[in-house]
Amino acid sequence: MKQYLAREGLTLVAILATHHHPDHVGGIAELVAMKKVPVFGPKGEPIPELTHPVGQGDKVEIPELRSDATAPVPSFDVLDIPGHTRAHVAYYGLESLFCGDTLFACGCGRVFEGTAQQMLDSLTKLAALPDATRVYCGHEYTLANIKFARAVDPGNSVLAAREEKVAKLRAAGLPSLPSTLGEERATNPFLRCAEPVVIESANKYLGSRIGDPVSVFAAIREWKNRF
Ligand SMILES: [Zn+2]
Repeated sequence: MKQYLAREGLTLVAILATHHHPDHVGGIAELVAMKKVPVFGPKGEPIPELTHPVGQGDKVEIPELRSDATAPVPSFDVLDIPGHTRAHVAYYGLESLFCGDTLFACGCGRVFEGTAQQMLDSLTKLAALPDATRVYCGHEYTLANIKFARAVDPGNSVLAAREEKVAKLRAAGLPSLPSTLGEERATNPFLRCAEPVVIESANKYLGSRIGDPVSVFAAIREWKNRF
């Protein structure tokens, strides 16, 4: 991580943790040993390095992100988005969303510590942010997620175009991230649990008749786990 900062010419000014999983917080100790910076993270999760435990309604201010000393201090709203973990949080500010393992590009995280209802509520909360919001999720899973989304939502032409675009980026060794919330709302099956085509696919998978968004969400989440 130290080498990454040096190579990219970046200065560490703060750490925003979204949840307690080791692949998201395992490097914090090394970073704060190198430079003492504020470490924000969910107050309901065991992350020993946190200096600023936060939750819904809190604001994270990062003065170092100002373009000059007279500019307003950029701030991020903290959103509680439980489901993947018990107290997972997201940060929203500067038209950017840092959402860890809850919303992925064209997918979502697994429901480990919460319920399907909680996860769907959290995704719905994120989906209400403006279209132009840049989505910085925790993993580059986009292409695999799109392959699954195509099985759920086969007639979606925006999704087909997205597959082509992302395949080109990945073939060129480039990231598919950030995406935008507008793109996610149009193509991410987990944000489209009320769409007739997604309900139909969930029913085909289950071999039964369900229609409420939570059952649809739970069905396609389980389907994705086996895909
Ligand atoms: Zn995780």
